[in-house]
Order: sequence, then structure tokens, then C-alpha cells
Amino acid sequence: MTVSDTKLPSSFITQIVQDDIAGNVHGGKVITRFPPEPNGYLHIGHARSIWLNFGIAEMFGGECNLRFDDTNPEKEEQEYVDAIKADVLWLGYKWAGEVRYASDYFDKFYEWALHLIKAGKAYVCHLSAEQASEYRGWATKPGKESPYRQRTVEENLELFEKMRVGAFAEGECVLRVKIDMASPNMNLRDPILYRIRKASHHQTGDKWCIYPSYDFAHGQEDAIESVTHSICTLEFRDHRPLYDWFIENLPVPSRPRQYEMGRLNLSYTVTSKRKLKLLVDEKIVDGWDDPRMPTISGMRRRGYTPSSLRKFCEMVPVSDKNNSDVDLAILERAVRDDLNENAARAMCVMNPLKVTITNFPEGETEVMKAACHPNKPEMGERELPFTRELYIERDDFNEDSSLSRKKFKRLVLGEWVRLRSAYIIQANDVVKDDQGEIVEIIASLVPGTVGEDAPEGVRPRGVIHWVSASQCVEAQVRLYDRLFVNEAPDRVEGEFSDQINPESLKVVKGYLEPGAAQADPETHFQFEREGYFVTDRHDHSPESPVFNMTIGLKETWASKN
Ligand code: ATP
Ligand code: MG
Repeated sequence: MTVSDTKLPSSFITQIVQDDIAGNVHGGKVITRFPPEPNGYLHIGHARSIWLNFGIAEMFGGECNLRFDDTNPEKEEQEYVDAIKADVLWLGYKWAGEVRYASDYFDKFYEWALHLIKAGKAYVCHLSAEQASEYRGWATKPGKESPYRQRTVEENLELFEKMRVGAFAEGECVLRVKIDMASPNMNLRDPILYRIRKASHHQTGDKWCIYPSYDFAHGQEDAIESVTHSICTLEFRDHRPLYDWFIENLPVPSRPRQYEMGRLNLSYTVTSKRKLKLLVDEKIVDGWDDPRMPTISGMRRRGYTPSSLRKFCEMVPVSDKNNSDVDLAILERAVRDDLNENAARAMCVMNPLKVTITNFPEGETEVMKAACHPNKPEMGERELPFTRELYIERDDFNEDSSLSRKKFKRLVLGEWVRLRSAYIIQANDVVKDDQGEIVEIIASLVPGTVGEDAPEGVRPRGVIHWVSASQCVEAQVRLYDRLFVNEAPDRVEGEFSDQINPESLKVVKGYLEPGAAQADPETHFQFEREGYFVTDRHDHSPESPVFNMTIGLKETWASKN
């Protein structure tokens, strides 16, 4: 067995896999799977499951399947299937062979249901949902046996066939397995194997009107695919005895083992497809891939990178005991670190104030050169046109020259500042409008200061960014902030609307250095002194540039709240 370069941090699960290989438990093989239900787009929690399942396979020279757990046609859609495949690929993983579907195995599940009926271990039950729930009891109260439990094999075969051909209405009856109505584990109290759903299925069309329950399908899907290590989240621990019961009572081709790990929960974030769907349906966000969504496609559009998501996953320990409640700031730090390393630099002024350089000739352009990345010469250089009229940020100028140099490292009247990758300039005067608002700075450049230190007597307060007023490109800039003001929006019941950050999206105009507008969609930038931005995947073009804010240069949320 070859072990690849991928190395997940060691955890209970890497230890188990390693021991199993050493002990030749599954003939030395490692097969994992990522099993989403296509009832929504994947979110950050799924990214973790993908990272772990594909990562284990890569690390131990095994394989990982992508299998859609599509047993619930009413909630599932082809759109979700397509989006999930795209997300897994974008994260940088390849599934083994073709994409698989639980629905590929519907014939097999049906055969196995017949197997249980013939063995006297399954029965058609006509209790209503309400009655069934009453018969089930609760954790401390044993359930009661259904009056339909003693039906003969022949009767059950006949009734199940009637279910299959559509002779019963939805909800009229179900097929249940006969285990133990008094079991302390509620999952063993004769759970449902098949229910009637007169719905078209995105893969099997109208072939079936009975569908297996998730519990009846999941373990057997793993068995059919010879999955060796079936990883799921902690809430399925109590289901494991049921899955094992099926594996022992059915002629399955292999025996998978299930291991449970803690769920990933992120502060300020909803990680439930059902709730994310509400945000989409109620139009609180602009679709599943709105850059404010914690969906993989939303984070992608926001400018998060696959490597930052993987890095983040590595930072959160895999636990077999507790869910992981993680601060969103940790994810943001992983994103920031990755972009700092890899994003090209550019300048963009978002709240412009005109600067006229009186000692630079009108109509002329001097082309400045700047590194695309301060530490990566291989990323090349960019050209910045310097002209008589420039824009700087309004906040980077103050008339008050008594401001301390330490506190205000920008331009004040009478003093100097360095324009990034260009000249040192001095502010000599301001022009104001009728309301007294500054509309222009009259400035002069200090000759010979491009790429050179300041001459004697010239003391720039700091370095600021700028663009040429005549040669910059206007761009739409979408400034994003956290969607929720509440730290635990998952736990709050009721309306979402009063938890939404009203400032989660602001659209402004940006004045951009011209080269950056030429970038392809999904190109990452650090706008100097502003933050990280990405050209929008769908809406950006060089003719009408659109940039999404990924994240600020520093953590600001904590200080704001
Ligand atoms: P949701 O509650 O958002 O619908 P789910 O668990 O029902 O999530 P599935 O499509 O069944 O969604 O999930 C596919 C896989 O992803 C499962 O193996 C599940 O355990 C895993 N998974 C889902 N959410 C998380 C999470 N927050 N942390 C870790 N793994 C997760
Ligand atoms: Mg699920």
C-alpha cells in the first residue's frame, strides 16, 4: 500500500485506520465515502467531512466515493446534485470511479426487504403516524407492539407488493423491521424500512413509489461499496446498533464499521441545510452562493480558497467525544493567511479625494512599476500610470497638521506622504466647495523620490495608496460583513430577520488601478491597506469589473461589537 503526501493531523480516526491496516483488518484496504443528501448546497461542516473522508483515503493510499444519499425524493433536486459535485471538485478532491447514488441500489434494498419479510423479521404496519409514535413510547417508557406485528409472511409479502405497485395511499402503511419495542435504544423499536412516497425521483423517475428509510439504506450502501471506514457525526452513534443489526441479518457483501466524530459548528454561522434553505427561500440572501452564505459555493464566491478551507480543517481537532464549536475568527484567519501569501497586490480607492500635483505636467503619464507581491518576485510586476490628477482616500487626508505623527500616519496640510510605489508628495493647499467640504488637494511631488529615500528635511508621515484619476477604472465593489449579529444563530428559534446584520452588504464604487480590471473572474487581490478581494465569479468582466470583498486585513469584528 502506498501512502501519499497527504498527512492529516493524527486523531482517533487516523489511529484506527492505521491499526486496521497494520492488522490487515479489511485486507489492508481503506475505502471511505462522502455521502451527502442532495437536499441543499454543501456548507462548511460538509467541507470538514469531505476533507476528512478524502484526506484519509489519500493519506493511506485508499479510495473515497462520492455517494448521494438520495432516499427522499421530495426534498432532493438535480440542481443540488450538480452543485455538490462542483463543490467537491473545487475543494480539490477526486472521487473513485463514477458518482454513486443510493438510488442505484433500490433494487437491492427491495430484495433485502423481501429477505427480512421472508425471515419473519419485517411486517407491513397500518398504524397512523400519530398512533405509531404513541406505541413507540419514549426513552424511559418501553413501547408497545403494533397490532400488525404478527401478520404472516404471506400476508406481509402480499401487502408489501401492494405498497410497491401503488395500491395504497401515502401514509396508509409502512414496512417495519421487527426488533424490540422495549429496547432502551429507541432506534431499535421496530423502525421503518419503507414508506410510500408518490413522488418522482431525480434519478429513478417514476419507477418507485416506495422509498427506503435513511436508516435502512445507509449501512447497506456502505456494504455494497465495500466501505471500510464509514465516518459520520456523533448524532448517529445511537443508530449504529441498528446498522449493525441490518448488516448481521442481511446477506450483505461486506461489513463496514461506523465511526462517529464531532460536528463542526461555527460561531455567527448557520450549519444546517434546512436553515440555509430558509435564507434562500425568504430572499434574505441572493441565492445559495451568495458570498455571505457559509456554503462552499458562497465561500468560493466570497474569495475563500480551497487551501484555506483545508488549512482551517487541519486546525480543528477531530474528536470522537464532542462537537467542535469553533470561532469564525479562526476560519477567517486561515483565509487571511492564505491570501496574504498568494494574492496579488493592487490599489483601489473607494472614497476618492482628488489630488492635483502642480509640478507634474498636464496630459503626461509616467509609468511606475510595482511588485505584484512583496515576497514573490515570480508573480511579476504591474504598471501604475501616474498623472497630474490622482485619487487618494478621503480618510487619508486631514487639514489639521497638529495631529500627532504617531496617530495619523497619512497626509496633512503642509506635510509629506509617500504614494505607494511612486513619489513622495506634499500637500500645499485645499479647495473647498460651498459647504466647506474639501473637494481637492493641491500638492507637489518631491522629484527623484520614486524608489528612493526621502531627501534631507522631507519627512513623510506614512505610505498611502492612490490611483490616477484619468486612467483608473471604475469597478463595482461589494463589501461584505458577517450575515448574523448573533453568535449562535443556529440555536435561536423563530425569525431569522432580527438576527441579520443590516450591514452585511454594501455596494460602493471603487477606482482601480487599470491592470487589475483585466483579471479573469475568481482572481484574488489584496487591495493595499484595505483588505482581500476577488473578482466575482459570475458578474465580473474587464469592461464592467466587479470585486467582492473577501475579508479585511485585520480582525475587526471583535472591536466593533
Ligand atoms: P444538514 O444538517 O446541514 O442537512 P446533514 O448531516 O443532514 O447536514 P448530509 O448531506 O447528510 O447533511 O451530510 C453529508 C455528510 O456530511 C455526513 O456524513 C455528515 O455527517 C457530514 N456533515 C454534515 N454536517 C457536518 C458538520 N457540521 N460537521 C461535520 N460533518 C458534517
Ligand atoms: Mg443528513
